[in-house]
Amino acid sequence: MLELAVLGSGSSGNCALVSLGKTRVLIDAGLSAKQICLRLEALGVDPDELTAIVLTHEHGDHTRGIDVFCRKRSLPIYATLHTCAVVRENVSSPVIWTQFDSGAGFEIGDMKIESFSVPHDAVDPVGFVFRCEESSLGVLSDVGHVTRMIVDRLKGVDTLFTEANYDEKMLQEDTKRPWSTKQRISNRHGHLSNDQTAELVASVAGENLKRVVLGHLSSDCNTPELAAKIISEKLGTEGFTSVTVECADRKEPLPSEAVAHAPVNAAPAKEESIPQEKAPNSALVCEPSPPETEAPAPSLPNQEWRQTELIF
Ligand SMILES: [Zn+2]
Ligand SMILES: [Zn+2]
Repeated sequence: MLELAVLGSGSSGNCALVSLGKTRVLIDAGLSAKQICLRLEALGVDPDELTAIVLTHEHGDHTRGIDVFCRKRSLPIYATLHTCAVVRENVSSPVIWTQFDSGAGFEIGDMKIESFSVPHDAVDPVGFVFRCEESSLGVLSDVGHVTRMIVDRLKGVDTLFTEANYDEKMLQEDTKRPWSTKQRISNRHGHLSNDQTAELVASVAGENLKRVVLGHLSSDCNTPELAAKIISEKLGTEGFTSVTVECADRKEPLPSEAVAHAPVNAAPAKEESIPQEKAPNSALVCEPSPPETEAPAPSLPNQEWRQTELIF
């Protein structure tokens, strides 16, 4: 059965681990190499026994650990053609680049992985569904708005790992960020608000949905309690009262947990609905978060690499 652990999630770095037996795949590598190793070891996983890394997109908070982490480990890295082209310019380590087309499926060990395009200000961002015979895991990070394709691809998964980046009200009231940054966050190629994520989760929830893990929470414009409350309440009003909702942390790993179906008859069948897109200019304000102090500075080859980041 698939298992999901989250090493860290937030503007300071995103990295998760999906396991199926001895197949262990990192989703993104946006923490420093040192933190990736430390957190894998804290989860009881030997960093030298990873099978591959798959990338959602090229932003630094999803890729900055690759070069150093792969210096001693010649891992396959799966990314779309365009994402590959951008990331490999800044990676000198001997990784094995494996390209896939956005929308295509591929296999790593016994894992079946489906990709799908998502709207975000990156060259070719994608989400994933991981499947094995017994279970399915949806992964969605860094998405400006929810599309019909996203709902179609994620519908019926057992566990959904999705971003819930900001609370609309907190973003509007934030005084630390310039208007332009707030616009980047809230536009159609930025990130999802709690309300948008709640609509998404309710739309893809089916009788198998057992667990929702929220990630990429803004440190200033969201709180785990608020995000979990909004998503849980939305699921409750739609009749999905037994779904576990929890938040991944930026500093502490979320331990590995099996991706399993919800108990039979735990949730009612639900009519399909598409989440409403937010009104134009519906949100304002938010700027880059202050840099992390606890994590060691990643090795970044050049300034251009930094400029690919979109940090909140
Ligand atoms: Zn991004
Ligand atoms: Zn990100």
